[in-house]
Amino acid sequence: MGSEQTADELFQLLSDEIRLDILRTVAVAQNENKQRGVASLSFSEIYDRVEVDDTSKLSYHLGELTGTFLRKHDENDSYAFTHAGEQLVRFVLAENYRQPDPVGPIETEGGCQWCGEQTLEAILEDQYFMMYCTACERGATAYRVRPAQVRDRTGEDLIDAVAREQVGDLLKSRRGVCPDCAGRIETEIWDTEDVPFPGEPPVPFITASECQSCLRFLSLPLPVAAAYHPESISFHWGHGLDILDAGIWKFNGYLYDDQWTAERVATDPAEYRVEFRREEATLRLFLDETATVTHTERVRRRGQR
Ligand SMILES: [Zn+2]
Ligand SMILES: [Zn+2]
Repeated sequence: MGSEQTADELFQLLSDEIRLDILRTVAVAQNENKQRGVASLSFSEIYDRVEVDDTSKLSYHLGELTGTFLRKHDENDSYAFTHAGEQLVRFVLAENYRQPDPVGPIETEGGCQWCGEQTLEAILEDQYFMMYCTACERGATAYRVRPAQVRDRTGEDLIDAVAREQVGDLLKSRRGVCPDCAGRIETEIWDTEDVPFPGEPPVPFITASECQSCLRFLSLPLPVAAAYHPESISFHWGHGLDILDAGIWKFNGYLYDDQWTAERVATDPAEYRVEFRREEATLRLFLDETATVTHTERVRRRGQR
């Protein structure tokens, strides 16, 4: 057992329900022990908590789980989670295998990326958190939700939770780290005219970011992706907009009134310029083909905007 194992074998190990019970028990006991700072559990502590006929049966099941879901510390005969064990048990405890509860519609602030109208309602559609535009009757932005995220939240509280997760995901993927598996994310820039869009896209370029390990894919209008650069965060903060406190649907309006624009300024290698305009100030970011910001420029243009 161990690193040679296939995913098939890993799931077969869980076919006996007592094993999942053991993993759940270890997680709950670890939590109860947190003030002691001990992450591993002894054989007898597990035996006291799991409903099992005798010690030899527990011994057998622990043996099966060890190497894949649990690690055994031989010096004190105790058990702790492997990475796979921890991932699985958190997923099970959060009950993220259930269907998410129905949502909304919740009226919310933000613009439609197809028509620019400020008429969004949040709904849950196909397991995605959908910002639906009531003006053009299309989905304006969709983002994944997890059942635990929806379970105890409603209204603004739920919208905030989706926005918070989105911000975290985008900050990580911008720096090449997958928000799901921590594998490597690679980003390129696509011309929107080469992509089959359901409507007229508001900007000519989008970023396409893909995890090389788990295949998570994220795509954003180029100015929205660039907005998470520290220079932009600081610029917008100085003009009353907290980039880190909003879901991306709040930014769609800026793509429509040309406050946020993107153009290609060189080819071979391609270079892109994103401009953010707030009041009479402008911030320019220059990006290479991987959407990495190479340099920035602040411009003050009196009498304009
Ligand atoms: Zn619309
Ligand atoms: Zn990944």
